[in-house]
Order: sequence, then C-alpha cells, then structure tokens
Amino acid sequence: MQNFDSSRRSALKTLLGVLALPTFYTVAQADTQLPRPPSDANVLFLQRHDAEYLKHRQIFNKRITLMPRFIAVCYNETGVQTAIRYANQTNLAVSVKSGGHCFEGYSLNEGGLLIDLSLFNKLSYSADSKTLVAQAGAKLGKVYEYLAPHKRLIPAGSCAGVGVAGLTLGGGYGFFARQYGLTCDSLKRVQLVDGKGNLLDSKDNPELLWACRGGNNGSFGVVTRFTFNTHPAPNFFRSYRFKYKNLNLVQATALAKRWFDLMPSLPTTAYSSWVLNRNQLTILMTDMRPSTNALQAILKSLSKGASDIMPVRKDSFLAGIKRYRGGQEPMYFKNVSAGYYQSFKSIEAAFPDIFKAMQASPLKQNLLQINTLGGAINDAGKAASSAYPHRSYAFLGEYQVYYDKASDGNRAVDLVNQIQKRLTAAGIQAHYANYPDINLPNWQEAYYGASYARLQKLKHQLDPDNRIRHPQSVQL
Ligand SMILES: Cc1cc2nc3c(=O)[nH]c(=O)nc-3n(C[C@H](O)[C@H](O)[C@H](O)COP(=O)(O)OP(=O)(O)OC[C@H]3O[C@@H](n4cnc5c(N)ncnc54)[C@H](O)[C@@H]3O)c2cc1C
Repeated sequence: MQNFDSSRRSALKTLLGVLALPTFYTVAQADTQLPRPPSDANVLFLQRHDAEYLKHRQIFNKRITLMPRFIAVCYNETGVQTAIRYANQTNLAVSVKSGGHCFEGYSLNEGGLLIDLSLFNKLSYSADSKTLVAQAGAKLGKVYEYLAPHKRLIPAGSCAGVGVAGLTLGGGYGFFARQYGLTCDSLKRVQLVDGKGNLLDSKDNPELLWACRGGNNGSFGVVTRFTFNTHPAPNFFRSYRFKYKNLNLVQATALAKRWFDLMPSLPTTAYSSWVLNRNQLTILMTDMRPSTNALQAILKSLSKGASDIMPVRKDSFLAGIKRYRGGQEPMYFKNVSAGYYQSFKSIEAAFPDIFKAMQASPLKQNLLQINTLGGAINDAGKAASSAYPHRSYAFLGEYQVYYDKASDGNRAVDLVNQIQKRLTAAGIQAHYANYPDINLPNWQEAYYGASYARLQKLKHQLDPDNRIRHPQSVQL
C-alpha cells in the first residue's frame, strides 16, 4: 500500500509532472532474424522501433530499464495463446504485464516477449450471483468505481493504478482485508493460458485456483479472467491521522511500542498503518463502521504527544477510497517487503540501527511503513484453500525509498540492502511476494513457505519449458 504522507506525494506528483521520459530508451532496428510475429485482430505485436512500443512497455517504476524484444498487446484469450505459441516457436522468454506496478519490474524482461494485457480490461457484475468477472488488465480504481453503484466491493488495495491481476496473484491486502480477507480469498474462478498455450479453467482444475490465490505472479501461466465473490460496500469511510514530528530514537521507539500494543484491540472493520519517514511519524486509521469504544480508546492513546491531529474525515465510500488512490505517473523508487511481524518484539533488535540508517541517508524520502493484518486474513479455511502462506502474522512491513534522479538508484538499493540485513539479523524471514526484493536470498521460502513445493509441481505440469519466467518466478 502506498504511504499516506499526502504533502510528500503531492510534491512528488508536481515534480513528476515536469519530467520527460528517461533518456535511456533507444530505438532498435526491425528484427529480421525471427519469423514475422503473427499480428491479427486478437493480438498486436510491437517492436522497439514501433511508435506505440514505449507506451505499452511503460511500468510504474522508472528505475527498471528492461526492454523486451517484442510486446504482444493482447485483446483476448486467443491473442494470449497466439503470443505464447510464438514465444515457444522462437524460444523467447515470456513476462506478463497487467497493471505494471511490480516493484522490481517482473512484468518486463530484456530481449524476450512481453504479454501486455492493459487493453483486455473489461468488468462485468452479476447481480444474481453477486460476482464480478474482471479481465486481466483491469485496475483497482476502475474496479471500485464500477462496483460502487451496486453497493459492492472486492477487498483490494487502494492505489488506483495497481492491477487486479498482480495484486490477487500475490495475495492482496488493503482497508477491507481484516473484515473480508485478502483479495485472493474472494477469488472464485480463474481462466489461464499455460506455458504451452493451452487455455485452462480452474473449474476443471482446482489446483489452479489454489495457486492463483497468492502463488502465481508470472510463474506458470497468464491468467486472463478472474471471477470474484463481492461483498457489501460500507456507506461511509472514516479516516483519522496523527503526525509526530522531529522524533529521536527514544521517542520513535516509544511510539512504535504504543501503536503495536494498541493494535490487537483494533476492530476488524478498521485498518491502521504506521509510517516513519526519517524522523517524522504518521499514523493513519480508517474505519467503515460507527466508532466503537475500542476505537475511541485507541484514538485517545494515539493523540498523546501528537504534533498534528487531523479532524476525523467522514467520506462516502467511493470518495474515501479515492482519497488514497495515489499518483498515476511513473516514479523512481526501490520498495521492498520489510517482513511480517507478530509484535514490536519482532523488530525491536533491528529498530535502532534501522532508525539511524534512515536518518543518515542523503535520500530524504525513505520510509518504514507497517500495516495491520489479522482479522479475516487469519481464517483457517482460507489457509487451506490458498497458496498464500503468511496468515498468522499480525503486521506487514514495507520499506520504501523514492528519489528524483536516475543516478540515485544505486544509493537507494544500497540503503534497502542495509535495512534488509538488519531485519534478517533480527530474525525476520517471512516476506510478501507482492513486495519483492530481487536481492532477497531464500526468496522461495520467504514468499511461499510450505506452499513452494506444491507450486513447483504445478510449474512442471503447466510450464515444463519455463517459458513464463522472471528472476523470482517459481522454478522447475
Ligand atoms: C503504488 C503501489 C501501491 C500498492 N499498493 C498495494 C496494496 O495496497 N496492497 C497490496 O497488497 N499490494 C500493493 N502493491 C503491490 C502490488 O500488489 C503488486 O505490485 C502487484 O503485483 C501489482 O500488480 P500489477 O498487475 O499492477 O503489476 P504487474 O507489474 O503487471 O505484475 C506484477 C506481477 O504479477 C505478474 N502478473 C501480472 N499479470 C499477470 C497475469 N495476468 N497472469 C499471471 N501473472 C501476472 C507479473 O508477471 C509480475 O510478476 C502496491 C504497489 C504499488 C507500486
């Protein structure tokens, strides 16, 4: 989830508005060594010299400079099948892009074939079954807007540009997860084109559904359609925000302990995030129901020592969601999972060094964000029917570094590596697959835990040539 420091975000937005496309893009000559790709009404193949290439290559993270040899813009399942068969014929690696928000750019590749689903993005809601069918290119902002008149939602993240595909395939948490579960828990059915080009349906192969609930980000097939159970949307969306400025280590530690200790009594309709931006802390809380005594007690405790308390905001459901929709323009960043925690104890040993490294970095926009999990995510039934393995944890950390100049990329990566080293030394081992870090050792275990071996079995069945792959896709 993107952080909630709105002044920082609008400053970045303003800045990004005046930046041109990065200069590393080069236009290559037409490819003559491979058979001509078969563009037709179902799929449009683009090469680097084509005018539309850069538009379809674009992803949210400007740090990633990978350039696929071909982009197959697919309009339907047949287009995806054609693209995969062409990749098999030409022995090209395939990557899959839906919303393009992967932190490490795993939806791109260098010199291979990119399947771009951005134009295959229709939504359809059935009032009878209360289900939503989303084509793979649909983005979250549109999903919320489309379902709101039906007074329904799927529990997803808040940033409008994130793809429903990548979010669901890696788990998916947000404001409603404690009440309704992860995004992948509402997934009812998928259709997928496998590495051989076959169109499969989870109705005939339940293992597919299990894997697509948190275990299939670009690993063994291209999911083309997602069917979700929907849930009642609340009438109102309340937000509360507290800021604490100019903190030293002792103060930041005390505020962290306080927040962690309060969160077990957070109602399951509510969500909170703890966001430390160097020496300034922002705590956000949202709730969808009338305030309870438990919530009031938390708010009262958080108000102690706050430098700035925002008056409670009561928005309509959709207005509340839109408030947190985030920027749409690509930016430079290095964000990673900072691990799952049970309580402050999980990071207590690492916290002083992390705090010091944050202050010492010349990169001013570096943040540790911790989000509440728990509630419906912990449901044992959901655990059995999904590949997502980290249900028992109460908190998820994310470390974010934003910067303005491409030349600061190595600095950002170095800072993240320092932070990860400290977290690992403190015993943090479980990480969120949707917040990947390309430098994470043992990522198989960290992202998928005990599900990994079962995912590998499926990889053997569906993609025995490892056609669909990226640096942290499930391996044969
Ligand atoms: C600004 C921002 C805000 C975010 N907020 C949240 C949040 O609130 N909650 C949360 O849980 N996560 C959040 N994330 C993380 C997000 O869930 C992941 O980045 C997610 O993978 C993005 O999906 P996508 O379709 O946009 O990305 P893409 O880059 O298109 O794809 C991401 C991954 O999924 C694979 N993939 C994409 N489409 C398909 C498909 N159709 N079939 C098979 N594989 C596919 C790709 O190969 C890639 O590995 C956020 C990320 C960003 C950048």
